Amino acid sequence: MTQNRIHNFNAGPAALPLEVLEEIQASFLDYKGCGMSITEISHRSKWFDDIINDAVARTRRLLGLDDRYQVLFLQGGASMQFAMIPMNFLAHGQSADYINTGTWSAKAIKEAQIQNKTIRVAASSEDRNFAYIPKAIDLDADAAYVHITSNNTIKGTQWAAFPDTGKVPIISDMSSDIMSRPLDMDRFAMIYAGAQKNIGPAGVCMAIVRQDLLDRVPDTIPTMLRYTTFSGKNSMYNTPPCFGVYTIQLVLKWIEETIGGLEKMAAANREKGDRLYGFIDNSGFYQGTADADSRSLMNVTFRLPSEDLEKKFVADALALGLGGLKGHRSVGGCRASIYNATRIDAVQALVDFMKNFMDKNG
Ligand SMILES: *Cc1c(COP(=O)(O)O)cnc(C)c1O
Repeated sequence: MTQNRIHNFNAGPAALPLEVLEEIQASFLDYKGCGMSITEISHRSKWFDDIINDAVARTRRLLGLDDRYQVLFLQGGASMQFAMIPMNFLAHGQSADYINTGTWSAKAIKEAQIQNKTIRVAASSEDRNFAYIPKAIDLDADAAYVHITSNNTIKGTQWAAFPDTGKVPIISDMSSDIMSRPLDMDRFAMIYAGAQKNIGPAGVCMAIVRQDLLDRVPDTIPTMLRYTTFSGKNSMYNTPPCFGVYTIQLVLKWIEETIGGLEKMAAANREKGDRLYGFIDNSGFYQGTADADSRSLMNVTFRLPSEDLEKKFVADALALGLGGLKGHRSVGGCRASIYNATRIDAVQALVDFMKNFMDKNG
């Protein structure tokens, strides 16, 4: 049954661990002997309670969260967070700093501006088409928060180390690198991630929020847009995205029990990135688009000598069972997304293909 599966380099929704998909398949019609599918049971049932509690517990263990943090499962994707963050945490009369490292950061900025909130762009890499993570940051010591995007899915850059913001809390969009490496959560007041890149299917967004932010939430916000609606109810004010939460639970179990935790996950991700970037750098044919010190270990973006060759590259790869290598429509080029679930043998298959393609077309 698995023999037709391709090597999946999609940017999102993206590859999930095969073990997780198989477990879902095996228990899909009759979840743990309850006689129903996970998609048919009540979110108020003991079965679902166990799932969401386990997902939260695993998140807490993996990231070493203390009880100042709440783990929430929300809908509306990461894009909804762009609007909810300033709505909940940035009062009129206050200012927040945003660091602009590409498409998703820019959307977060726009959602704050739409609400007439006061924000400053404390740093930007727009001058070189977002090919790097800025080093010089002009932070406001009184900012309500600093918003960053830890991994820039489209531009192929990633913060290797996070900026020192003193007392100002960092809020990070981690949609495309959450759970890919250990985190010092003390640095963050909030992180959030649409699940469909690294931890689950589309339709659920994980948000981890510290109590001091929750204490700021005004009660003039519509119920469904207020973080405290969900933090007080274990994410179950209304029907949560049950299937998404279930899949996240299984992915986190896979990270903990099959991989062995985030240190090991990070080592595997580094090995994959080194293999692919190492090949690209030495090829004299493929050209990485991000500065070496800013490269993403999740989304490897590169160009070929011409757009025609890029088209042929993507098509030839797919014919050989290597899918999802087209760059984002806004930037062109090629992109291999090598998230947690992508194994080193998939990366090696890609490198072998790239070498072959270069020999034939170079
Ligand atoms: C994909 C992505 C988003 C958008 O996520 P949605 O869940 O589709 O709203 C936001 N930020 C980053 C970094 C992403 O990669």
